[in-house]
Amino acid sequence: MMKALVWEAARAMRLREEREPTAAADEVLIKVRHAGICGSELSGYLGHNALRVPPLIMGHEFAGEIVALGPLVPAFRPDLTLGELVTVNPLWYCGVCAACAAGLNQLCVSRRLLGAHRPGAFAELICAPAKQVHRLPAGMDTRAGALTEPVGCAVRIADLAGAVADVDCLIVGAGPIGLLSLQMLRYNGAARVFIAEIDEARLEMGAALGGIPLQPRETDPVAAVLAATAGAGVAVSVDAVGSAVTRAQCVAATRASGKLILSGLHEESSAMPVAEMIRKEIHAQGAFAYSPANFARALELLSQGKITLDPWIEEAPLGDGGAWFERLLDTPGAVSKVLLLPAL
Ligand SMILES: [Zn+2]
Ligand SMILES: [Zn+2]
Repeated sequence: MMKALVWEAARAMRLREEREPTAAADEVLIKVRHAGICGSELSGYLGHNALRVPPLIMGHEFAGEIVALGPLVPAFRPDLTLGELVTVNPLWYCGVCAACAAGLNQLCVSRRLLGAHRPGAFAELICAPAKQVHRLPAGMDTRAGALTEPVGCAVRIADLAGAVADVDCLIVGAGPIGLLSLQMLRYNGAARVFIAEIDEARLEMGAALGGIPLQPRETDPVAAVLAATAGAGVAVSVDAVGSAVTRAQCVAATRASGKLILSGLHEESSAMPVAEMIRKEIHAQGAFAYSPANFARALELLSQGKITLDPWIEEAPLGDGGAWFERLLDTPGAVSKVLLLPAL
């Protein structure tokens, strides 16, 4: 038996004894060392997410140690050995549809997510398909490795933003994805990156990472961006919240022919100022998860220390997971990412 944090119903999470999983022929069994709580899991926890059905072991941002290999694995992944530290791309895919053929496996017609369609990483052990497993580069620990998945989302956003050298950008929302995207845009040479966020602790994190903080409670972020750009607006805006208000703010703050990257999924649908998008010929672009190439790039950037959420990472025992879900839904303060440690 193993310890697992099981989501049982809306706002009910409990540490339980569960049967240990066994790796299928093409899978590996991983002993989880660090597993991050994702924003999408907070809405899942509230029961607002059709993807997640209780009882469920969530957790798709994780890293750990290989403790068993399915019998077929050595033949096609000879690089995976017992004791190896790894992380896993939790999105898996058919490999044959048009999206997969184009390398956009995150858009696969039959994609599945670990921690939603299959048991996830909020447990002592997890099984994952060997083809999705990435070895951590030498010297990289599982604390950093567990960030690969959210960093992958930011790599995708930055890829879709394209060349940003010496242009101004805006990010609305300083949650983990907003903060990681801020670092990516700066890494890619953006001039100024404005960051708008209501939560004061998160806004301070954005400022500490080099963003120009905008507090919507004090100043209208759109007016501030327009004033700072001679009325033109930014070349690229990223909505990392996904509400009607933040989507409209991004449209209004984006310059003519600029790019709007939509990443936040807070509201399923919302009114958008489409006439304004037409008159400004704004290029609107959805950004979903990460391609396999984005995931690999995220691992590389993390191992080089180019991107981080430190010092705002909180480590907690698995049994405190339920309390952390509640706290993250409230006002967690100077915490950007909670990593659950089954070994604690
Ligand atoms: Zn996630
Ligand atoms: Zn596919």
